[in-house]
Amino acid sequence: MKEETYPFVMRCLPYETYALAPCISAETQLYHHDRLYKGYVDRLNGALANYPALHGLSLRELLKWPENLPEAIRTAVVRNGGGVYNHQLYFDSMQPFCMEQDPKGVLLEAIIRDFGSLRDFRELIKETAEGQFASGYGWLVLDADGTMKIMATANQDVPDLKRYIPLLNVDVWEHAYYLQYQNRRVDYLNAWFRLINWRKVACRYEEAYAEVEEKRLLRGEGDLPTVFEGEASVEDSWLSEAEETEFFFVP
Ligand code: MN
Repeated sequence: MKEETYPFVMRCLPYETYALAPCISAETQLYHHDRLYKGYVDRLNGALANYPALHGLSLRELLKWPENLPEAIRTAVVRNGGGVYNHQLYFDSMQPFCMEQDPKGVLLEAIIRDFGSLRDFRELIKETAEGQFASGYGWLVLDADGTMKIMATANQDVPDLKRYIPLLNVDVWEHAYYLQYQNRRVDYLNAWFRLINWRKVACRYEEAYAEVEEKRLLRGEGDLPTVFEGEASVEDSWLSEAEETEFFFVP
């Protein structure tokens, strides 16, 4: 499928504005999506308007080789293009909360392979996002070496797309949570974790893994790390019983 190019269009939320409440309120979503994200789309298009040579490039292509952008618009494209890319991934990676949802299959096996357990993964991505100084994002990415990594980026920076393929991110700018959680970033992260759309993350992982594997084989680098044999289990639940009960009282 051909990726979107200039003029970039503001994507609709894949659920109702109020659908993530009480974890993320309708007010937060409305302001975040309709105002802030739209602003990035408009400014990105504005920056690119007079540069027809760039109109055939996808957002990923623009952000992958920032050094190739004309100097006059490089900062504007990196900041606003990053703002568009990051928000699209963030909004698209969530869904209304449901108890049944957990990573499964190949993605679950890869999480256990790269992070030890579901619980270790959950703690690491939360700690990393919580520890991002000031504004930025927490990320789960697939490294070119075939393993998943967790990292944080500042402002609207994307991970180095020459090396990493983003699978999931979480916005830790204050505008993502302050209306509801004030300065309690960790409470917001706990709530966000319950909204992750693992089905989408799994699709991204499988596509990204195939892409990375193909490149490695082309370079003659041999096989990627193998995933565990047999069924991965979700017995190692994300939430303790106390946390599950507590969840329903999240503001
Ligand atoms: Mn944001």
